Amino acid sequence: MSATRVLVLNSGSSSVKYQLLDMAGGAGERLASGIVERIGQGEVADHTAALKRVAAELAAAGLGLDSPALAAVGHRVVHGGTRFTEPTLIDDGVVAAIEDLVPLAPLHNPANITGIKVARELRPDLPQVAVFDTAFHSTIPEAAARYAIDAATADAHGVRRYGFHGTSHAYVSRAAARLLGKDVSDTNAIVLHLGNGASASAVRGGVCVDTSMGLTPLEGLVMGTRSGDIDPAVIFHLSRVAGMSTDETDTLLNKRSGLLGLCGDNDMREIGRRMGEGDERAQLAFDVYIHRLRKYVGAYFAVLGRVDVVAFTAGVGENSAAVREAAMHGLGGLGIELDTVRNALRASSEGASGGSWGGGPPGGSWGRLISAVDSRVAVAVVPTDEELEIATETYALVSAAPSDVPTAPIFRS
Ligand code: ADP
Repeated sequence: MSATRVLVLNSGSSSVKYQLLDMAGGAGERLASGIVERIGQGEVADHTAALKRVAAELAAAGLGLDSPALAAVGHRVVHGGTRFTEPTLIDDGVVAAIEDLVPLAPLHNPANITGIKVARELRPDLPQVAVFDTAFHSTIPEAAARYAIDAATADAHGVRRYGFHGTSHAYVSRAAARLLGKDVSDTNAIVLHLGNGASASAVRGGVCVDTSMGLTPLEGLVMGTRSGDIDPAVIFHLSRVAGMSTDETDTLLNKRSGLLGLCGDNDMREIGRRMGEGDERAQLAFDVYIHRLRKYVGAYFAVLGRVDVVAFTAGVGENSAAVREAAMHGLGGLGIELDTVRNALRASSEGASGGSWGGGPPGGSWGRLISAVDSRVAVAVVPTDEELEIATETYALVSAAPSDVPTAPIFRS
């Protein structure tokens, strides 16, 4: 049996998500998936116990980690700093380097590292690959990556814009080109990844040239619980007038801000329901969210000069017609004309009516167009698939001959 399966692990602080994909022929067929939650509380003592449970669940499905069909494990790693700009085969040195990056991602990298260590203990002989959330953004030019602060201080402490959600931006920008029937190298895309965390990116010919998240995932768009952009002096002001400590402001801006801070809810479905009842706080939260989003869309038109497609993805982007309509409203001057009927259709009903669905990955599609036929700029809903992208990049690395290890994430044909 040839080894064509890839186990994708996303080890968070309190959960481990996994998917097993078969990459034979580049297909990416999903064989199993699951999540082990509440690590550290009750039955699942720690990440070792969590990964043992993952192994047991896979074994029960006849897909055990000892299978010779397993080619590699692909790990999602949040922060790769400036050191990791592509998928990387893991060895002791790589683990140490990811540990060195913990100060840049104290909430995420430690859990990622634990997942890697436990997986390496379970299958020491198996290639394990780290796929970094920051990697796709490593091409951002200095003009966009630099903060305008004292250069020596910035350099001494790694203070610059790294960007996150890179796996999703990479996948979606290429899927959007596929949907348009264009070559990715000839497609300029604005990708709007709107989940609980949210980020925008400007992608020129498949190469990322700007993104909204920065040193950490706090910068940029209004998110479920994060503020996105603020005047940094807000922090000094709150320290002086309210005596708030660094940790308190950190919690305020990351956990008690964004939609939640503005109106008490961070789920766009609930906000939509409240707006329907005339709730003014929910309406204001929506308006602030949309205003920021539109500012980034405008900014990235200027960054790119020419835009072929605006692609909406992740929980809000894929499901909220109201957000997409409000974000794209009145942008005729930029060449955007939304087809509001197509936009409002649920994906499933539009699929049933045929028409605008493109071909795509197994069990899915590259997405659907929601712009008017005469819109100069296409607008699309593109379901993201970070696990498939991680598996694709992992498999490409372990199945390539050493001489043709890809220098950029490759997209399956
Ligand atoms: P993350 O991966 O960042 O946790 P997701 O991409 O899964 O987030 O997005 C989760 C968010 O998507 C939810 O908080 C909710 O606001 C939004 N969402 C999910 N389904 C819908 C829907 N049908 N309509 C509007 N928003 C939705």
